[in-house]
Amino acid sequence: MSGRKKAIRYEAGGRDMKCPICGHEEFWKRKTLMNTKGLTFWELDWLNKEADNYVCDRCGYILWFLPK
Ligand SMILES: [Zn+2]
Repeated sequence: MSGRKKAIRYEAGGRDMKCPICGHEEFWKRKTLMNTKGLTFWELDWLNKEADNYVCDRCGYILWFLPK
């Protein structure tokens, strides 16, 4: 699929990242801006920052990593 990033392996927390659903180990990465609209419950300092998303290349499950 054109425009789609190649799925590769990543590490998180010092371990190889693995999909909790299907066990696949290759993901493609995207960034998502954390948006405050409608999320006033979550008024934390990481809002309006970018979160890293890793999308499982097999089942499409999305892992979210909030900015530190
Ligand atoms: Zn998966």
